Amino acid sequence: MRPLDLVVVGGGVAGLAAADEAVSQGLAVALFESGLYGGLVSNVGALDGWPAAVSGSELAHGWKDRLAAAGVRFHEEHVEAVRAQGRRRIVKTDRGRYRAKAVVAATGARLRRLGVPGEEALTGRGVSQCAFCDAGFFRDADVAVVGGGDAALQEALHLAGYARSISMIVRGGRLRARPGYGARAAADPKFSFHWNSEVASIEGEGGVEGVTLADGRRLEVSGVFVFIGLEPVTALAGEGAFAAGAARRAGSLAEAVADGQRAAREAAAALRR
Ligand SMILES: Cc1cc2nc3c(=O)[nH]c(=O)nc-3n(C[C@H](O)[C@H](O)[C@H](O)COP(=O)(O)OP(=O)(O)OC[C@H]3O[C@@H](n4cnc5c(N)ncnc54)[C@H](O)[C@@H]3O)c2cc1C
Repeated sequence: MRPLDLVVVGGGVAGLAAADEAVSQGLAVALFESGLYGGLVSNVGALDGWPAAVSGSELAHGWKDRLAAAGVRFHEEHVEAVRAQGRRRIVKTDRGRYRAKAVVAATGARLRRLGVPGEEALTGRGVSQCAFCDAGFFRDADVAVVGGGDAALQEALHLAGYARSISMIVRGGRLRARPGYGARAAADPKFSFHWNSEVASIEGEGGVEGVTLADGRRLEVSGVFVFIGLEPVTALAGEGAFAAGAARRAGSLAEAVADGQRAAREAAAALRR
């Protein structure tokens, strides 16, 4: 087996793009993924801003299959640490150790949580961060979506196909989402908007029964979907890994792809020096 030139950590779009760029430059590449290929968009049913009409899962799996045929090795393993050892990198996973000449850390981001009373206890019992996974459980239900960015609106518009009403809880005085999303929500009588509002607590016995806002108002809902931004996963920063994608800067799929390609080109250039 050829020794590895490049290890890519993360099978989101930034990692897949990095592996694609590196293998096209003739490097021996392995990609490690500990969750779902596609990362943040693995459950998104209809991607926006992507040239083809595909789901996140279709995009990632189609891409992965093509890269596997081009020679990229895929490992379903969690990378615990990357250590520099002279000019080599030692990649320690939950299953073993690998040596590579360079590492791209495309470890992405996690959805932020509210951190309010009731959120943790009711997660999976009405509190969710995946409308594309859970909307079917909220047919004809009253639900709240927390957030005013693209992800919140994209998921809320999907929920609108199932729920009876959607209360958008928005921290600011306007949406940050692209105008097309806002216009669709505003035109749908199922939507109501609670501006300059924050969730203080989520209540319910065995399942969500309502949320209380910071100003004391209470909304009777049986579902709460939380999309209030991202926390980058930077656990592998340093030790000579090239960071790429949402681990470095939140943005669109296209930006994550471009950043993955950039990181792979920088890694390839470093190997030639
Ligand atoms: C709900 C939602 C919907 C979105 N919809 C769109 C859209 O329609 N159009 C658009 O342009 N953008 C969209 N975005 C933005 C888009 O998701 C991001 O730009 C992009 O997915 C970032 O890709 P990434 O590869 O950098 O990170 P991620 O997608 O987070 O992928 C990182 C991957 O690394 C893996 N990983 C992390 N640490 C390790 C480790 N130690 N070992 C092994 N594997 C590890 C994770 O499991 C994950 O699969 C959306 C974002 C969200 C949150």
